[in-house]
Amino acid sequence: MFSQRIDGLQPSPIRAVLGVIDRPGMVSFAGGLPATQMLPEWSGSLTQDVMQYGPSEGDPDLRAVVADRLRGMGVDAPPDRVMILSGSQQGIDLVAKLVIDAGTRTAVEFPTYLAALQVFRFYGARFVDVGTAAAAAALAYVVPTFGNPTGRCASAAERDALARTCLASGTILFEDDPYRELAYETVDRRPIVARMSGGSWIYQGSFSKTFAPGLRIGFLAASDDLFAPLLMLKQAVDLHSSRLSQRIVHDAVTAPDWPARLSALAAFYRTRRDCFGRQLHRHFSDLADWDEPSGGLFFWLRLKREIDTRTLLDEAIACGVAFMPGEAFYPNAPVLGTMRLNFSHADAGDADRGLAVLADLIREHRR
Ligand code: PMP
Repeated sequence: MFSQRIDGLQPSPIRAVLGVIDRPGMVSFAGGLPATQMLPEWSGSLTQDVMQYGPSEGDPDLRAVVADRLRGMGVDAPPDRVMILSGSQQGIDLVAKLVIDAGTRTAVEFPTYLAALQVFRFYGARFVDVGTAAAAAALAYVVPTFGNPTGRCASAAERDALARTCLASGTILFEDDPYRELAYETVDRRPIVARMSGGSWIYQGSFSKTFAPGLRIGFLAASDDLFAPLLMLKQAVDLHSSRLSQRIVHDAVTAPDWPARLSALAAFYRTRRDCFGRQLHRHFSDLADWDEPSGGLFFWLRLKREIDTRTLLDEAIACGVAFMPGEAFYPNAPVLGTMRLNFSHADAGDADRGLAVLADLIREHRR
């Protein structure tokens, strides 16, 4: 009844966990959800034109704003090579459609963003490690800046090395950068694609983490050889992204208070990260190792014992706490004993309570 492709279709483990976090009293470290109190309220007025069909590339004024920002980051993309996406998740699907057949070597970080793995797997990707095998891959997908799930920021040397490898081997570089604005320390975040002169690349970003995930607006820019086919794929998927959402995002990011809002957001999350870090030390110092993330929304824990955190999740949910088991972020064989904890969503009291519950459950496993 279904296409062959459907054989490989798996539900997203994260969407399954998100289904339980609305239960009253549930403390969630699971999703990459912005803090509810930081979401915008909107009271602008709209003109009728946003109700009409629009261009597949996106609304020209928003594309121009994005191109301007990209230029500031050293990314070579005029507005006519910028496309507005229905969430940056859509960019992952478009790129996978363009590049991946059954068996296509796809280089990723181990671990990496699980909803990218889900898409790549659907089209038949064979995963290899971007650290060692990017040169042998058709596509290299990376989240180098405050990555999901690890929160890690790749060094300038690592960025330069991957840029060089992709240029030399003809590997398409796909840089996914939704967290770059959530920086809590000064780090070198210059995009990898800004370090390539020539080559084939896609760079994408999102307004989900800095503004409002519910509007579903992201963007991509691509090298000349890739932009036109990506646009044809976008046309076939949804004609264009919501014009209403594009207008709301455009008005917000061009408002005079936007830079101040971004700094306030980063300051708010920095405080949450610091607080969460102290709570982790209190509850987890004998149970796990971790690095403090210099940006983004996640702590990545490596437990000192190899507990299957998928089993732990069921027990945690029964006790009113949700988190993301680390196993799902590994492309091939899952590595046991890792967990991703989001620190942006729960307030300090809930986080402390939730971490205490998790630590107790882990101690029970260790006995
Ligand atoms: N890429 C990464 C690395 C992400 O973490 C996310 C969201 N969690 C996305 C892409 C998709 O974000 P959106 O579709 O909301 O822009």
